[in-house]
Amino acid sequence: MNQPGYRTLSSYLKNKFGQAVRKLSLDAGFTCPNRDSTFSDVGCIYCEPESFSMFSSPAAPSLIQQIRQGIESGHRRGAHRFIAYFQAYTNTYGPVGKLKDIYDTIHAFPEIVGLAIGTRPDCVDKEKLKLIASYTKDYDVWLDYGVQSIHEQTLNRINRGHGPEAIFRAVLLTREYPGLKICAHVILGLPGEDAEMELATAKALAKMKIEGIKFHPLYVIKGTRLAEEYENQRYQPLAMQIYVDRLIRFLEVTWPETVIQRLSADSLGDKLLAPQWLREKSSVVQAIQKKLEAEDTWQGKLYKEEVPV
Ligand code: SF4
Repeated sequence: MNQPGYRTLSSYLKNKFGQAVRKLSLDAGFTCPNRDSTFSDVGCIYCEPESFSMFSSPAAPSLIQQIRQGIESGHRRGAHRFIAYFQAYTNTYGPVGKLKDIYDTIHAFPEIVGLAIGTRPDCVDKEKLKLIASYTKDYDVWLDYGVQSIHEQTLNRINRGHGPEAIFRAVLLTREYPGLKICAHVILGLPGEDAEMELATAKALAKMKIEGIKFHPLYVIKGTRLAEEYENQRYQPLAMQIYVDRLIRFLEVTWPETVIQRLSADSLGDKLLAPQWLREKSSVVQAIQKKLEAEDTWQGKLYKEEVPV
């Protein structure tokens, strides 16, 4: 185990590539079936509605421009290798031919060594996964699935548009392509969830030996349906110390090999309504590291390997 008490993304990348690697966050102009009326036209309760007009702006930089700018900015910070992270919305939502054209853009940039594709578990199939797996010959390839929770009642409550079976199906399908790695995005503090429910999600991910996890606290963005609930006092975000504690309980049962790719949310600026402690990402990360040390605990301390029958 590394010093911080969990397996960090930077140590994983340094080990694999022998140098620092940065992620390029990309918006390839995809939409989301949970917003465009395919599954629903309102989206998840925390989804920011304004973000859906951004990609259609004529002033939005092209994918090539985004990559070029990201690489230039990385070079200024001393990074020379990059992961193309298709982050915005649902990046497998489209026909396979269109997906191939978009992902193939990375071939023009020899500095790119990895590919990460953010998507919903109900937006993959064998054909798409076969295409994505074809990039493993040349790249470190990750499927970033928005899991959030494995509980049906929570997924309904947040209007995810699918149940837990879609998550398990996506993981099983992905496992048919051995080079593909999964990074599960998990939200702590979802409405109606307690520490026990989060622990059940943690144990399910550990059992599936998920290769990566990104943690997010549930935050309230202005203009969302969650913001209405917050203003009407129907939703209360977690206090920072409770978030820190629940995250540590989650980490303790997590598979020790899982790469912890994120511990909190990035800066959200003026859009953030609550919780205010999120304005200081570094203090959240420090609080997690301090508590891990104080409790003499670490990722995987309580992990139990399943004994095959
Ligand atoms: S899946 Fe993502 S993009 Fe789609 S509605 Fe939910 S939060 Fe918004």
